[in-house]
Amino acid sequence: MTMKLEDEARRQLVEAATQVRRWAYAPYSNYAVGAALLTDSGKVYDGVNIENAAYPTTMCAERVAVFKAVSEGERRFVAIAVVTSNGGTPCGSCRQVLAEFGIETHVIIADTAGNVVQEATVADLLPGAFLPSDLARE
Ligand SMILES: [Zn+2]
Repeated sequence: MTMKLEDEARRQLVEAATQVRRWAYAPYSNYAVGAALLTDSGKVYDGVNIENAAYPTTMCAERVAVFKAVSEGERRFVAIAVVTSNGGTPCGSCRQVLAEFGIETHVIIADTAGNVVQEATVADLLPGAFLPSDLARE
């Protein structure tokens, strides 16, 4: 069952993700990403991509937002907005991290012109996700 996301909540999340992009640390790719994660307590945690000269240690905006929320005691998410210059979608690692905390979380993908280019659930974006329930013992 997909939770309905109000238009105003969607607009605010996209706006928050757009605004936080300014703090992206992306000197190598020049591809700034902003994310804003709405939890079921009503709080919003934002995140940006943080690159590193040792490339594999780079972290994505979506995971920064999720990790900030989880480290503050939040584990139930309603939606995440991700804003890039061209409406790029979350990478596989971010999809997997989002799946851990809710396969039905809404993912709103927007560009910096304010266009929502795609809206889907994590389940839509990561079919066949490996979930906590897969570790259940017999
Ligand atoms: Zn990612």
